[in-house]
Amino acid sequence: MADKRDYYEVLGIQRGAAADEIKRAYRQLARKFHPDVNKDPDAESRFKEVSEAYEVLSDDRKRQMYDQFGHAGPRGAGGAGVEGFPFGDIGDLFESFFGGATSGRRGPQRGSDLRLRLELTFEEAVFGVDREVQLPRSESCLICGGSGAEPGKQPVRCTKCGGSGEVRRVQQSIFGQFVNVTPCDRCRGEGQIVEHRCKECSGRGRVERVRAIQVPVPPGVDDGTEMRMPGQGEGGDKGGPNGDLYVVFQVKPHPVLKRDGFDLVYELPLNVAQAALGAEVTVPTLEGDEVLTVPPGTQHGRVLRVREKGVPKLQRSGITAGRGDFRTVVRVEVPKQLTSRQRELLEELAASFEGREHAPAAAAAGPAVARPDNPNGRVSSNRRDKKRNKKGFFDKVKEAVGLDDDGEGADG
Ligand SMILES: [Zn+2]
Ligand SMILES: [Zn+2]
Repeated sequence: MADKRDYYEVLGIQRGAAADEIKRAYRQLARKFHPDVNKDPDAESRFKEVSEAYEVLSDDRKRQMYDQFGHAGPRGAGGAGVEGFPFGDIGDLFESFFGGATSGRRGPQRGSDLRLRLELTFEEAVFGVDREVQLPRSESCLICGGSGAEPGKQPVRCTKCGGSGEVRRVQQSIFGQFVNVTPCDRCRGEGQIVEHRCKECSGRGRVERVRAIQVPVPPGVDDGTEMRMPGQGEGGDKGGPNGDLYVVFQVKPHPVLKRDGFDLVYELPLNVAQAALGAEVTVPTLEGDEVLTVPPGTQHGRVLRVREKGVPKLQRSGITAGRGDFRTVVRVEVPKQLTSRQRELLEELAASFEGREHAPAAAAAGPAVARPDNPNGRVSSNRRDKKRNKKGFFDKVKEAVGLDDDGEGADG
């Protein structure tokens, strides 16, 4: 579905193209790619593609659906699609663009599925919300029960086709002679004719309605989550069941929080001094600010976890079970510009590291790895702990305050 080409593009026409323009484009392309005349290996798939585009764009209602919902909309509309069309029956297909309808007599049919995009804020997706949407859809006419006949009157059998809905005839075409089975044009393939039309639906048996639908968005949905609402799609034909409505959620990003599964992730910027000395910080959970204690000697990338302050864990059933965590990821920021006072202090700090280059903590890091004197320089990897593969200035700050803690998972 995803890599399907746009139907207008397939036919090489503008979005607003008139019906005869669509027909013309289709005839031209269908002739060009017809597998009987075009032996190119791609011809058959192009032919199918063109036929499918035409099937949708030549039908006002399907075209409207397609314009509104894209490829997901008209899928299944009106029953059999072009996919898997047997090429032995090419006459039928051609008849469809020489003027006839495509379907024979039809019994009860399930209504089409509909797809609706629903935009949610980050918070709505996490906590759930009840939303009302206006959904245009085609429904079975309640007055005539979908028959198209005025209540009390019955449709009568079509005299042209004898009620079969089909007309057989021999036809000459550019590809030779065919016995064509085409839908009866008098009854439009229905096999019966409504003489007294229902006033509500003008005999079509269907009415277009815009319905207000309540969409109960459960807590925990994410961007792209799809929810099926059974029976909320289009009405069935001739007593067939309704289609389903698929609601696809589009979640707006949060300014500072991200989702990782059911966890919420917050990046906490810390300056060098806060990381080395520890600090009290405030983090924005979705239920308000929470004060966290950053322990002294906190490393870049350390995760502070607040349990059960993440996203409710939505199950397939639509019920939630527990919640994810709120993860604060520490980002230690090196100052890019220093005041003269700060420079002074840092130089003093740097000087205090002199002679501690091979202090016991550092020596334990690895056998005789030479460490550069430049405190801001790059340093070879530390084998003792893979997480700490960059050892530099902060490690020295940490060593200066006599700490060697890089544990994870402090509680808030
Ligand atoms: Zn009606
Ligand atoms: Zn007929």
